[in-house]
Amino acid sequence: MTQTGFFDTPIEFLKGVGPQRGDILKKELGIYTFSDMLFHFPFRYVDRSKFYSIAQINDDQTYIQLKGTITKLGTVGNKRAARLVATFTDESGSIELVWFKGVKWIRDWLRPGTEYVLFGKPTLYNGKFNFAHPDIEAVSEYTAAVTVNLQPFYNTTEKCRTKGLDSKGIMKLQKNLIAQLPTTVRETLADEHLSKLKLMPLRESWLQIHFPSDTTSLKNAQFRLKFEELFYIQLDLLNRKLIRTEKVKGKLISTVGDSFNNFYKEKLPFELTGAQKRVIREVRTDMGSGTQMNRLVQGDVGSGKTLVALMCMILVHDNGYQAALMAPTEILAQQHFATITELLEDTGMKVGILTGSVKSAQRKKVLAELEEGKIDFIVGTHALIEDWVKFRNLGLVVIDEQHRFGVAQRAKLWAKEEDQPHVLVMTATPIPRTLAMTLYGDLDISAIDEMPPGRKPVQTIHKFESARLTIIKFMKDEIAKGRQVYVVYPLIEESEKMDFMNLQQGYEGICRDFPRPKYQVSIVHGKMKAADKEREMKMFVDGKTNIMVATTVIEVGVNVPNASIMVIESAERFGLSQLHQLRGRVGRGAEQSYCILMTGNKLSNESKLRMQTMVRTNDGFEIAEVDLRLRGPGDMAGTQQSGQVNLRIADLARDGAILEVARKAALGLLHTDPHLNKPQHNMVREHLEALTRNKKDWSRVS
Ligand code: ADP
Ligand code: MG
Repeated sequence: MTQTGFFDTPIEFLKGVGPQRGDILKKELGIYTFSDMLFHFPFRYVDRSKFYSIAQINDDQTYIQLKGTITKLGTVGNKRAARLVATFTDESGSIELVWFKGVKWIRDWLRPGTEYVLFGKPTLYNGKFNFAHPDIEAVSEYTAAVTVNLQPFYNTTEKCRTKGLDSKGIMKLQKNLIAQLPTTVRETLADEHLSKLKLMPLRESWLQIHFPSDTTSLKNAQFRLKFEELFYIQLDLLNRKLIRTEKVKGKLISTVGDSFNNFYKEKLPFELTGAQKRVIREVRTDMGSGTQMNRLVQGDVGSGKTLVALMCMILVHDNGYQAALMAPTEILAQQHFATITELLEDTGMKVGILTGSVKSAQRKKVLAELEEGKIDFIVGTHALIEDWVKFRNLGLVVIDEQHRFGVAQRAKLWAKEEDQPHVLVMTATPIPRTLAMTLYGDLDISAIDEMPPGRKPVQTIHKFESARLTIIKFMKDEIAKGRQVYVVYPLIEESEKMDFMNLQQGYEGICRDFPRPKYQVSIVHGKMKAADKEREMKMFVDGKTNIMVATTVIEVGVNVPNASIMVIESAERFGLSQLHQLRGRVGRGAEQSYCILMTGNKLSNESKLRMQTMVRTNDGFEIAEVDLRLRGPGDMAGTQQSGQVNLRIADLARDGAILEVARKAALGLLHTDPHLNKPQHNMVREHLEALTRNKKDWSRVS
């Protein structure tokens, strides 16, 4: 059998699978072939040579092993919902075990007094640890059966389990597969990388990743496979970038002219921050280089991205080109148009707007002026990049607040014209560097990582329910000074009804604590009619109400500089980026602002970390890093739309260092052999082509 033949073999032909299990594996886990199975890597390994004692159990543990005896056994609950509860004891203490299924069978099977090896994950329930459905084996059987120290654990599903394909079942299949693996397999990495980075050969990595002989070999196998995965993603992105730079000639923006200088001297309302200056310089270098610029600018809310965009646009204007600024919504486009129009007053530069609501007569006029070159800058929504919009000479497109522009969409934008403009993408959701390199690895990246001076950072405080009276007093004091307050409740779909009740009760509570006519309270939530919502909002914006009780609908859009307190109820139920966004609603005026995180007394370790992070820092980048560590890339704000980051083995939260190495290797390779046509790189080129053709085999980045 050839190598390809082996890897492409349908999964049902693997010993132990057959048609029935084959169907389940395909449907449930997407495993169609031997190769799919091989790449179904374990997500965890448990050292089965290590035993814990009951006294050592804590919140941070996943799966652990104990040795002890059953000292009590009984069924609890009524007949239909009976559960089996046992007490497991070792010399350090006792712990409860619970079974909800197979109660009768397990009850008959367990022998009090016999020494067992227990294996499972401790969970905290009612303030005490227990094990639900642990694995239990008599010590004698255990010793006979355990042949590996590091036991692999595989992802599986409920349906798979009914066919015997729990983690252990899959482990058995992997054993069969590995036993059949061809003795030689074709390397996918170049010799230079294998030797320089001391990478484990491919075949051995496969063996070790499933059945590690020890932790060092496992680490080496993981490193090799992670490196390979990240290397090919980076190679693909950098290769696209290379092709683009070769194909597309950049419009030369080489001079800094009068418009820019005059604006800088006379119109600029304040000194630019160091970060703003740096980013403008980076853009200038890009646009003056003769190649097309594709740059991503990341900057937290309020870091001053609009001004950076405008100054780059003026630079382009100085060189005889038009520029466009694209916003994701009509409202944002209107806001930008107003800001820019004001800043450009008396400069002779002309700005137009083009959105869905611009009436057709006006639209015609704008389109004509754009084509004739009478308009220098155009602000608008997605409509701007439609084919019917003709420019005289478009030099730069700025895409604002657009973390939804995945590689595929950008490719479409670039494919549009022969004569392509420079592209500057701006995002307000700080993304950790590793994620940015993977999502936007074909772009150059800048960060505005400094806030304009004079802002008072929002003070964040974490309080428990017991401090409510103090908080109410604090709110009253601030209101007495003329400030306004937000009180935000979580409303999360799964538990919508209950959340809604909490919101209503919260509102009633606030109305009691802040009685009319001395205090006025607004309420806004997603279930209200748009007109009612707007009326309530407006009252708060106009300062007619002191408190705004709301769900997260206020996350985007509102701007009330006089609001100086943000109280977030049940803050433990919000994600970090959401908390950060909510906090961004205050601290917009001259006054000291506060964000108060209210939580229940009992918090999980993760919730504690989230609260601590919010209290410690206002830095969106730092918060994004923690968020990535806690939630993984798939759930991070902005990544859902921009495409999945579906990695098989690498983890963007932990493998930043490997990613840097992989990117450097990919860069170096393309530098010495841009088209990968040296004979020693043949297989790298072929592998890249195969991966790009068949993207289901690796991380999808668009
Ligand atoms: P964002 O990055 O969220 O788009 P904006 O561009 O809207 O931020 O800027 C936020 C506010 O900060 C605006 O009112 C803007 O005028 C102001 N601003 C921008 N740059 C500076 C600066 N260098 N010094 C002081 N204020 C600035
Ligand atoms: Mg902005």
